Amino acid sequence: MKDAVVPDELLARIRRFHDHTFPGVQEQFQTLVSEGQHPSILFIGCSDSRLVPYLLTGTGPGDLFLIRNVGAFVPPYDGSTGYHGTSAAIEFAVLNLKVARVIVCGHSHCGGIRALYEEVNPLAKNLAAWLELGREAALPVQVCPEALRRTEQRAVVLQLERLMGYPMVRSQVEAGLMTLHGWHYVIEDGEIHVFDVRSGQFVPASVATHSGHGPYIEHLSEPLFNEIDMAYKLGDNP
Ligand SMILES: [Zn+2]
Repeated sequence: MKDAVVPDELLARIRRFHDHTFPGVQEQFQTLVSEGQHPSILFIGCSDSRLVPYLLTGTGPGDLFLIRNVGAFVPPYDGSTGYHGTSAAIEFAVLNLKVARVIVCGHSHCGGIRALYEEVNPLAKNLAAWLELGREAALPVQVCPEALRRTEQRAVVLQLERLMGYPMVRSQVEAGLMTLHGWHYVIEDGEIHVFDVRSGQFVPASVATHSGHGPYIEHLSEPLFNEIDMAYKLGDNP
């Protein structure tokens, strides 16, 4: 077989990791192998390359059980549309790993959300079907930066509500053993806006008093989507 003409930069990188980076963290990884993984957080984030969960949360190996997909979407628990890696990972994280927190993290300039307002490549049949998981968050307005931001945030809340449709999630949340957190990460500012269930709005972390709510807190068990919808329609969202 002929050698590649272009230098294989990727090979150089994985060798560099093994030779230079790994020795510094070897002990940590060996412990994670001997004791197994016990991440306390399930992080469901968009696949976007600019969203870097470890950087955002100051975490490292063994800390986050990660699900990445287009739009940070959650399929319905009883969806019968075939293989769902996202649903399988949610069930595993809750039932086996017994995570204490589930974060759904959308972000600014999300291509998956923008695609809700555009034609999808007819060859991308799976993508077109997948995007339907965000359809309910789309607004009947002309697409503009403000509409996109609102849709990104509405999509996060929509996925949190779907999460509550997973029996193992609902029971853990209602028992107070697990909390849900809705986040919207603004890439250009480096700031996460956390969902506040009481106001139905996303609050910048710099002024927030908590790290985000899900659609359920003890005294408020009804779905909030309509309430949020109302807030957006009234235009009083910051
Ligand atoms: Zn995205």
